[in-house]
Amino acid sequence: MKAIRINRTGSSEVLDYAEVPVPVPAPHEALVKIEAIGVNFIDVYFRKGLYPAKLPFTPGMEAAGVVEVAGSEVSGLNAGDKVAYAGSLGSYAEYAAVPGSRLVKLPENVDSKTAAAAMLQGMTAHYLSHSVFPLKPSDSTLVHAAAGGVGLLLVQMLKESGCRVIGTVSGAEKARLASDAGADHVINYVESDFETEVKKLAKNGVRAVYDSVGLTTFEKSINCLAPRGCMVLFGQSSGPVPAIDSQVLSLRGSLFLTRPSLKDYAATREELLARANAVFDGVSSGKLRLRVGGTFKLSEAATAHEMLEGRRTTGKVLLIP
Ligand code: NDP
Repeated sequence: MKAIRINRTGSSEVLDYAEVPVPVPAPHEALVKIEAIGVNFIDVYFRKGLYPAKLPFTPGMEAAGVVEVAGSEVSGLNAGDKVAYAGSLGSYAEYAAVPGSRLVKLPENVDSKTAAAAMLQGMTAHYLSHSVFPLKPSDSTLVHAAAGGVGLLLVQMLKESGCRVIGTVSGAEKARLASDAGADHVINYVESDFETEVKKLAKNGVRAVYDSVGLTTFEKSINCLAPRGCMVLFGQSSGPVPAIDSQVLSLRGSLFLTRPSLKDYAATREELLARANAVFDGVSSGKLRLRVGGTFKLSEAATAHEMLEGRRTTGKVLLIP
């Protein structure tokens, strides 16, 4: 089969389109014939070596397709079932062996492309908006990279909960997309100082900041919080943040700081199914609008990465094997 292989970590050039054997599933795994692959920023961290993986490896954490063979210990899944998953390394390929416990059967009206576009970023937006910090309707929130994959979904879910959403983006087209998703105010954080602008829009500060940009936004994000507000640092698209002195949280008004990860918010089979199905229900009912901003062939994975890292994508990016 064809797959993307990483033999050494580095820039997008290390993504090799190679011929490799079809994986043999262990008893607790199913072999999935992949129809659509979700590209996520975490794939860039693995490729660069920021998140460690044993070399050589096939990157990618998310895909949707059809079960080809289910291992003897996999229950509730049969050959021919349409499934999706997030959080199992090796999806940039024509086939992947995936633990049965991570696979979610697709509802009738959700196809593979939709599932691969919705699952990881949708479940992330879901836990961020529903489970990380209790928000009340009318609370003000700040969402960085609001036109990104997670961003567009998070804006919609926070609005659905009744919150006021201030989004940041890097350009006019992205600003339009964030507004269309429901953001009440959109700040171009490349052209203006977002801390100043947020303080004009929310005099007492915002209740929660959802910061996936990291290095370039973290410090100012903390300055945007209301007393007892929560800094939700959930990524580092611009680079990892430096260590923080916990005293800062006290001085700025008894703030909370969390660095959450999807794996801990879809930790059990029950939680995974509840979250994934909430996302699929939202998509099939039309309540949650997905935007696929780029579709590439599997062999073009390097181009997809360059565009994602170059801030030239909006919404979801897919690879098709
Ligand atoms: P996005 O589609 O959001 O792409 C990243 C965006 O970050 C860019 O489009 C860009 O938006 C913004 N950005 C700002 N500065 C930079 C920079 N220096 N380099 C690159 N991008 C920059 O990606 P995803 O939706 O896949 O992921 C968003 C973030 O969420 C990532 O940090 C990812 O790691 C994190 N994440 C965390 C999870 C968790 O559970 N903790 C799960 C899923 C994702 P703009 O041009 O508008 O600035």
